[in-house]
Amino acid sequence: MFEKILIANRGEIALRVIRACREMGIQSVAVHSTADSDAMHVRMADESVCIGPPSGAQSYLSIPAIISACEISGAQAIHPGYGFLSENAKFVQIVEDHGLTFIGPSAAHIRIMGDKITAKETAKSLGIPCVPGSEGGVADLETAQRLGAEMGYPVIIKATAGGGGRGMKVAHDASEMERAFLTARSEAKAAFGNDEVYIEKYLTTPRHIEVQVFGDGKGGAVHLGERDCSLQRRHQKVLEEAPGPVITEEERARIGKICADAVAEMKYSGAGTIEFLYENGEFFFIEMNTRLQVEHPVTEAIFGVDLVREQIRVAEGYPLSFGQEDLQINGHAIEVRINAEKLPNFAPSPGRITQYHAPGGLGVRIDSALYDGYSIPPYYDSLIGKLIVHGRDRPEALSRLNRALAELIVDGVDTTIPLFHALLQEEAVITGEYNIHWLEHWLEQNLPA
Ligand code: ADP
Repeated sequence: MFEKILIANRGEIALRVIRACREMGIQSVAVHSTADSDAMHVRMADESVCIGPPSGAQSYLSIPAIISACEISGAQAIHPGYGFLSENAKFVQIVEDHGLTFIGPSAAHIRIMGDKITAKETAKSLGIPCVPGSEGGVADLETAQRLGAEMGYPVIIKATAGGGGRGMKVAHDASEMERAFLTARSEAKAAFGNDEVYIEKYLTTPRHIEVQVFGDGKGGAVHLGERDCSLQRRHQKVLEEAPGPVITEEERARIGKICADAVAEMKYSGAGTIEFLYENGEFFFIEMNTRLQVEHPVTEAIFGVDLVREQIRVAEGYPLSFGQEDLQINGHAIEVRINAEKLPNFAPSPGRITQYHAPGGLGVRIDSALYDGYSIPPYYDSLIGKLIVHGRDRPEALSRLNRALAELIVDGVDTTIPLFHALLQEEAVITGEYNIHWLEHWLEQNLPA
């Protein structure tokens, strides 16, 4: 049993992990940059260690600083949250070399899934259906043009090292291929230091459906259904819900089993998410995330489980605390991501919070590190909170979301709250009939930049 866990992250996800630790009777250690001395995760943890100056590269991404903080505090394990070092195989290796436990999968699994070409090959070999596309990387423009002609346009050029929606370019026809291919490559080089790209058929009306999986690292695994994350801006999720409004029980059982079997076969350990595009009743693998996702609370709501507690237990070597038959869906949950951003351009809006009021009541959860008088630093991600609602069904969850949004007050900075007030009036959102491109079109018409 761990006595002390260090959380190598900040913001709402650091609080999320601290809360799980506290319920399990485990001491928590926060790390922070000098810009985050007054942050909520520092206040809430049992101990804290300053690990460097504001820039992420010199603090939350600094492996020596984080390992030193473990040594100083005597923490036995590290929870990485999401982002930062959560999918860094080298970090996992170093953590283990220091006799510490990484709360997450093995370095080998992170490495396989972190390279999207290898991830796709692995998925295919495990029986997971994939988006049709190139076999491996595409090295030159001539090959890209030939593949485009063979596959039929539109196609999407994606970075094998990609993440966060970057390094992706669409070519709608042959004339767009040269530009798309060359920009995808140079963006990938600049963002990830690796310009290898691959090509996929670009699906025009898919939904983004992702399956939550959990492995015990010894060949046991379960799935916790799917989340629909189709409301996206620039390939980034804006609102997520579970279960998916168009996924049938049969489809859930079928794709869930494929994913759980794959994870079991890999002897994967801990939480993971297998992401698909879903079009005309078919699932197409796009990638696997080897960590806890931002949107995990919607899954927790409908299954009544604590995924972070489970991550910690599995890292301690315990078996999964639930079997597949224990996992029954109860109701519907929706999450909206509250970002400190100014509409219509979504420009970051850091600054001081003059007033903060969190909604409450039945079926409402707020995961946020905000407080009255807090100053949002300009150095990090603009996500400042997540509002999650749970109802007996989708209509009840929607009316609860409306009600909770009306109670939520964040003054002093611009936020994306008005976007959700507007979206909840839209027929497509109310009926759930949207695909991954719907929000971009809506923004063009309703919030022209
Ligand atoms: P990242 O790791 O950068 O998030 P993903 O591969 O997960 O990249 O894709 C992110 C989003 O990009 C998807 O949810 C989807 O909206 C879009 N996308 C990716 N691949 C395709 C494709 N083949 N066709 C259409 N859209 C795609």
